[in-house]
Amino acid sequence: MTSTPAERPATNWAGSYRYTAPQWVAPTTVEELQQVVASADRVKVLGSRHSFTDITDTAGTLISPAQLPRRIELDPAAGQVTVDGGIRYGDLVEPLHAKGFALANLASLPHISVAGAVATGTHGSGDGIPALGAAVAALELVAPDGSLVRLARGDEGFDGAVVSLGALGPVVSLTLDVEPAFTVRQDVWTGLTWDLLDEHFDAITTSGYSVSMFTHWADGVEQVWVKGRVDADDGARDDAVPPFPGAVAATTPMHMLSGAETDAVTQQLGVPGPGFERLPHFRLGFTPSRGAELQSEYLLPRSAARDAFAAMRPLAQQLAGVLQVCEIRTTAPDALWLSGSEGRDTVALHFTWSLDLDAVYAVLPAIEEVLLPLQGRPHWGKCFVAEADALAPLYPRWTDFADLRDRLDPDRTFGNAFLDRVLG
Ligand SMILES: Cc1cc2nc3c(=O)[nH]c(=O)nc-3n(C[C@H](O)[C@H](O)[C@H](O)COP(=O)(O)OP(=O)(O)OC[C@H]3O[C@@H](n4cnc5c(N)ncnc54)[C@H](O)[C@@H]3O)c2cc1C
Repeated sequence: MTSTPAERPATNWAGSYRYTAPQWVAPTTVEELQQVVASADRVKVLGSRHSFTDITDTAGTLISPAQLPRRIELDPAAGQVTVDGGIRYGDLVEPLHAKGFALANLASLPHISVAGAVATGTHGSGDGIPALGAAVAALELVAPDGSLVRLARGDEGFDGAVVSLGALGPVVSLTLDVEPAFTVRQDVWTGLTWDLLDEHFDAITTSGYSVSMFTHWADGVEQVWVKGRVDADDGARDDAVPPFPGAVAATTPMHMLSGAETDAVTQQLGVPGPGFERLPHFRLGFTPSRGAELQSEYLLPRSAARDAFAAMRPLAQQLAGVLQVCEIRTTAPDALWLSGSEGRDTVALHFTWSLDLDAVYAVLPAIEEVLLPLQGRPHWGKCFVAEADALAPLYPRWTDFADLRDRLDPDRTFGNAFLDRVLG
C-alpha cells in the first residue's frame, strides 16, 4: 500500500479544487482497501478527478484506486464485462473492441473512470441511448465495516446505488452491458439558426445515433456534431445527408472551442471507424476540451427544450465573458434514482466555462433561476449552487435514496461537506 506524499494527487483535473483530506492511501488489493475502510472514520475514493468541486474530498482518508489490480472479464454469452473500480473508459474500450464488443455509449472524453462517471450521472448524447449508468448491471461496494456488498439489477436498492455521488462506499467492481462492436461516422454541420432549431429540433436530434449542438446562445447553433452508426465498409462524407434545412457541411476538422487544437478531437469528415473512436469528442492521448476550464450542466425534460432555449438566449450577454461554449445533448430515460435523466427523455445544457471560480459562481444563480423551475437537474460532477432543499423536489425517488443511504452508511463514513450541502 502506498501513501507517499509525493504521489498524492493535490487537485482535481481542472486544478479548481485542492483536496484537504489529511490522509491518502493507494491500496494494491481490494482486501487492503477493505481494511482501510474498516479502520477509518471517514473515507472517500478518487476517480480520475474530472469532477469540478469538493465532491471527492473527505475529512479522513482519500483512497486512490490507481494501484488496484486491473480487471476486464468479458462474458460474451451474457453480453457483459466486469471491471475494477479504478478503470478508465479509455482503458476498457479498446480491449473490448479487440474481442468484438462495445459499450453502447460514451461521454465526450474517454479519460474518466467508469466508477466516478456513473456515480456522478455522466452521460453522452443520443435520443435512444441513456446515461452511462444505465449500462451497469451489477456493482460491488465496500460497506463501512469493510465487508463487500453486491447489488445487481433487480435487487432492492440497486437503482439507487449506481448514481451514488460516492455516498454509499467505494465501488470495487462493476458489471456493464456490452453489445457487438459497431462502426460510427462523424460529420459536423454549421449554419443552424434558432428558428431552424425550434422547427426541426426532433429531426436534428434523431439525425444520428448521437448528436451534439454547440452554441454561445447569441447567434444560433454554430456547430452540430452528428455521429451515425453505419456499416463498416460505408463510404465517407460525400454521401452525408444534411440533417436539417440550410445545414452547411464542415470541410475541415472542427473543435467546438474557438482556437483549440483540432488534433485533440476524434476523426470527423464522415470517415467511418470504431464507435469508441467516434462517440467521444476527444482523443485519449490529448487534453480533452480546453484543460483550463470549469463546467456546469443542467438536465431537463425533453419537453422543456424550447422553453429552456428561450430562457437561455436573453442571458447570452451576461454569460459572454466567462462562457467558452455551451453544448446541447439529449438522452433516453433511465431508472436510476439520482440520475439527471431518471424517468424522462432528457435535453441537457452543458456549459464549458473559463477557469474563473468567482465569475462562474456569479452567473450560476441566474441560470438556475430559469432552469430549475423547468425541472433542470444539475450534473452532480460539475459546478452548481442549488442545495438539498431545492434539489429534493426534482427527484421523485429522493427519499428512497435517503433511506438507502441511512441503511448502507448510517454513520456517514462516506459523507463530506459536498454531500451535507446537496443531500442534507
Ligand atoms: C473535460 C471534461 C469533459 C467532460 N465531459 C462530460 C460528458 O461528456 N458528459 C458528462 O456527463 N460529464 C462530463 N464530464 C464530467 C465528468 O464526467 C464527471 O465529473 C467525472 O466523470 C467523474 O468521474 P471521475 O472518475 O473523474 O470521478 P471523480 O471526479 O474523481 O469523483 C467523482 C465522485 O465519484 C466518486 N467515486 C469515484 N470513484 C469511485 C469508486 N470507485 N467508488 C465510489 N465512488 C467513487 C468520488 O468519490 C466522487 O464522489 C466531463 C468532465 C471533464 C473534465
